[in-house]
Amino acid sequence: MARLVMKFGGTSVADMDRIRNVARHVKREVDAGHDVAVVVSAMSGKTNELVAWCREASPLHDAREYDAVVSSGENVTAGLLAITLQGMGVQARSWQGWQLPMLTDNAHGSARILDLDGSELVKRFKERKEVAVIAGFQGVNKETNRITTLGRGGSDTSAVAVAAAIGAERCDIYTDVDGVYTTGPRVVPKARRMDKIAFEEMLELASLGAKVMPVRCDESEIMEQQVVTGIAFSKDEAQISIRRVEDKPGVAAAIFGPLAENNINVDMIVQNVSADGKTTDLTFTVPAADYERARATIEKAKGKIGFDRIDGATDVSKVSVIGIGMRSHAGVAAQAFGALSEKSINIRAITTSEIKFSVLIDAAYTELAVRTLHSLYGLDKA
Ligand code: ADP
Ligand code: ASP
Ligand code: MG
Repeated sequence: MARLVMKFGGTSVADMDRIRNVARHVKREVDAGHDVAVVVSAMSGKTNELVAWCREASPLHDAREYDAVVSSGENVTAGLLAITLQGMGVQARSWQGWQLPMLTDNAHGSARILDLDGSELVKRFKERKEVAVIAGFQGVNKETNRITTLGRGGSDTSAVAVAAAIGAERCDIYTDVDGVYTTGPRVVPKARRMDKIAFEEMLELASLGAKVMPVRCDESEIMEQQVVTGIAFSKDEAQISIRRVEDKPGVAAAIFGPLAENNINVDMIVQNVSADGKTTDLTFTVPAADYERARATIEKAKGKIGFDRIDGATDVSKVSVIGIGMRSHAGVAAQAFGALSEKSINIRAITTSEIKFSVLIDAAYTELAVRTLHSLYGLDKA
């Protein structure tokens, strides 16, 4: 007998048939004598629809209300799964983030989990073998008493937090792929499934857009054969360029300070060397969902910053190349720049770190860029 967390993503709960299928799967574990906490995502496509509605309501929407809206998809699937389980004679109860409560900070849209007390769930396992059906992706901020969400794909994070809180032996992430691939298999049919991946690489892959979570990460063995392990891509970013920013001390603080205060995460940053010693261009990326808010924030601080105008683009994507082998190999990124330029793909911004680099390109070229780099680094399956 074990304690388990079973997490089902959007594709697994996409309609009533699949929810019934999930319920049968859960029942099997309950019948085997296990205590089960289930974490569910919204039906696939639902969160995108909710996000689009927020934008339609107002491009500059209040982040607290965005969370109130987009968290609702998970409420539906958690309730439906609980009803379905009950119909099969399984004791089950749904839990929304505020009911657990899954306590988070108040960074709406990308909140971090602060605390989760699993004792009530454990008590119910013991007293009545009750399955906990938890709405993923959502939490609550204690100070403001407001619903928060954990960022796109956040129900994987919810599942891991629940597993820790109830002391689960296992946390199984069910999805529509059978493992972690060298890149998204829908984009690159030649992607290969990995037998193992270093923990650090998996963290990078996941945070850079590869949606799947690891089944097993391996830190003990160093994989020397391959310099590059995987390619990730994300279309959820937007580019903002501030033109002719005054080149003076404190200007970066004047720009990035207000963005941070508004909980807008800045990712890539590129600053040109100023040609005349007076002004320079500054480019950075923010999550696409925060694009309008970021522009408005900068516009508001214009007096303090001093610049000519803001340009921006939302039809961009970030392609990242990951591999711990980069630590000991030079020129890995340079190869990519060459290969992309051969395909006439323009690079708008670049960032690098010890085990990865990312390029920002036009979204229309995402698939071509990913396939090109996947072949370039010898990742295609034979
Ligand atoms: P779920 O709804 O189950 O959470 P997601 O859509 O969030 O599913 O994540 C699974 C999808 O992630 C797969 O369908 C696959 O196309 C995509 N994906 C992107 N990068 C990778 C990768 N490196 N390995 C495996 N799948 C990936
Ligand atoms: N439903 C949310 C999303 O689509 C969370 C998740 O599926 O993990 O981002
Ligand atoms: Mg997911």
